[in-house]
Amino acid sequence: MRRRTFVAGAGTTLAAIVASGAVSRPSGNESLLEAARRPADAGEASTSTETILSDTVHETSLYEIDAPAEGPTAMVFGGVHGDERSGIEVAREITDWHPDAGTLVVIPETDRVAVENDEREGVDGDLNRQFPADGEPTSDLARGIWDAVERHDPDVVLDLHRSLGIYGFHREYVGQAIFHSPDAYGGELATRLDDDAVPWYLPFHRFTAAESASSGPLLFQKAARDLEASAYLFETTNFMLDRQTKVEMTRLATAHVLELHGLLEAGGDE
Ligand SMILES: [Zn+2]
Repeated sequence: MRRRTFVAGAGTTLAAIVASGAVSRPSGNESLLEAARRPADAGEASTSTETILSDTVHETSLYEIDAPAEGPTAMVFGGVHGDERSGIEVAREITDWHPDAGTLVVIPETDRVAVENDEREGVDGDLNRQFPADGEPTSDLARGIWDAVERHDPDVVLDLHRSLGIYGFHREYVGQAIFHSPDAYGGELATRLDDDAVPWYLPFHRFTAAESASSGPLLFQKAARDLEASAYLFETTNFMLDRQTKVEMTRLATAHVLELHGLLEAGGDE
């Protein structure tokens, strides 16, 4: 009886803490997202759109947002896997962002057939295995995407994904992880996301940064290998996370990568 009373009391306390919102939610990072969404002090960014893989089943849009100040070029991909919706959603959203410096290039629906079918793979199979170290990209889609990458010659590449499980806990799954080229800020990105995107009550969802060999067949690996880009593959997870949380983690990861590489200035901390 006594024990039962105690448990009920603890539950009530926890419910009160959760309801207050004060400690139950991560802080987010409004100043960073605000910096991403508002025009730079130096002036408006200019956006242009191009169609790549025109007149093919893979036809898709590429957005180029030029900031008023000089800086690096960052290229962000959504929909390399068509059923990983949080990355697609964030990539669409950031076509309205305003970098302070450099150029932001976005392809929200990289494998457009896969995105439209809401499936991992499109007509040519798994796009993210088609960039081998020992030759050309192995499908029409992969070649068309790579042509666009070469034309824009990014200094930074961010490929947005979503897994089913958590890296290190669920065998074969890679969620809540940042795979990155040796020169990229993977560890710093994980620390920042743990601070402002991962709730305290989900300790298994803290991010792992893992340096990646550049010899693999993934898009971000080819960008690191051939263009010497600082390259990231970001993975959130379906495990215990609702859509809104996956999107917020992906959004914050994108903003932090842009800030770490000088495209965004987060502004004063008040
Ligand atoms: Zn994926």
